[in-house]
Amino acid sequence: MRNIIERYDPKKIAIGTLGSHSALNIFKGAKEEGFRTVCVCKENDAIVYRKFGLVDEMILVRDFSELMEERIQEKLRQLNVILIPHGSFTAFLSTDDLISRLRVPMFGNRELLRLEADRKKQADWLRKAGLKLPCTLKSPEDIDRLIIAKLPGARGGRGYFLAASPESFHKKFNDMVRRGLLKEEDKEKIHLQEYLLGVNVYPSYFSSIIDNEVEILGIDRRYESAVDAIGRISASEQLEIGANPTYTIVGNIPVVVRESLLPEMIRMGERVHETAKKLAPPGIIGPFCLETVITDDLQIHTFEISARIVAGTNVGIGTSPYAYLKYGENMYMGRRIALEIRKAIELGRLSGVLT
Ligand code: AMP
Ligand code: AMP
Repeated sequence: MRNIIERYDPKKIAIGTLGSHSALNIFKGAKEEGFRTVCVCKENDAIVYRKFGLVDEMILVRDFSELMEERIQEKLRQLNVILIPHGSFTAFLSTDDLISRLRVPMFGNRELLRLEADRKKQADWLRKAGLKLPCTLKSPEDIDRLIIAKLPGARGGRGYFLAASPESFHKKFNDMVRRGLLKEEDKEKIHLQEYLLGVNVYPSYFSSIIDNEVEILGIDRRYESAVDAIGRISASEQLEIGANPTYTIVGNIPVVVRESLLPEMIRMGERVHETAKKLAPPGIIGPFCLETVITDDLQIHTFEISARIVAGTNVGIGTSPYAYLKYGENMYMGRRIALEIRKAIELGRLSGVLT
């Protein structure tokens, strides 16, 4: 990778990503920091990137997996592209491909994408950082409390369900299979996690290698179908239709938290990066997000980390209260990424923020 970066012309660096998830956020930020932008896009989605006029070079593909083809990678290298990974990279490409077969410089630490993809390693990382995690059950037969059943990988909550006993687990699993949301063979892969009754809060951080600081840039919550709709019908109707909450992500909503929650939230971000430094030097490069549930005793429980930009930062395009406090107007995750790359170029430290 170092060889590839050395061949890049620092004056002609372009910022590229897959056309989906948080690409508008990334491209707008790149433009505002003076970079050219390259979008690897499916024909059907190109309307979005054309409409907002944020893309200088469009590379059309039939499927995102074409990013693994040498022809596309060569084109990206010719354009001096730095790739910004987001949720579609982890959802549609295999971790091995992302780490070893994607020979285009990437802003971020690829080793951490591997840790993120492995539930056990991810939990070890968060525990080492001193975060509170919901407990995990080994088998459906052990279910003795409310649990949430999850499939591995970023699927945006699709196919998740709740159960409070082995019987209700099997019944609901079969129901999900019948509705086409899960496959029979998924049963082996399902992760059973204690369900925390609280509100979900997703703080997004930026770990700057150049400034040696972890910033908190915004907080959001998710807007999920059908769970956010269930409260709109009465309990009697819920019972009548056997309503079973699902968590398909539809969008995000900005959140500001009680100021007294911020000290812990800020320290959590710093500790996660400090721990990552030991697990995979130099630690987190750029954006990350902790997915938390805050219970009514004001404890912050973390059930997941994304070691990359999350789509929840899209609520901050333009500005968010937390970005405003540090930067004034017009700072958001996409721009913060581009700013870091620009600073790294100016200081001759580009290879320090790419892998
Ligand atoms: P999409 O192109 O919208 O299917 O998104 C690509 C991947 O990112 C999928 O796995 C989605 O579930 C996930 N994703 C997209 N938007 C969000 C969001 N706002 N929050 C969480 N995950 C998301
Ligand atoms: P995820 O796709 O893992 O980010 O989670 C999808 C949805 O499930 C979100 O609404 C989360 O708040 C919720 N969720 C995930 N894990 C838990 C948990 N352990 N306790 C409560 N809610 C959870």
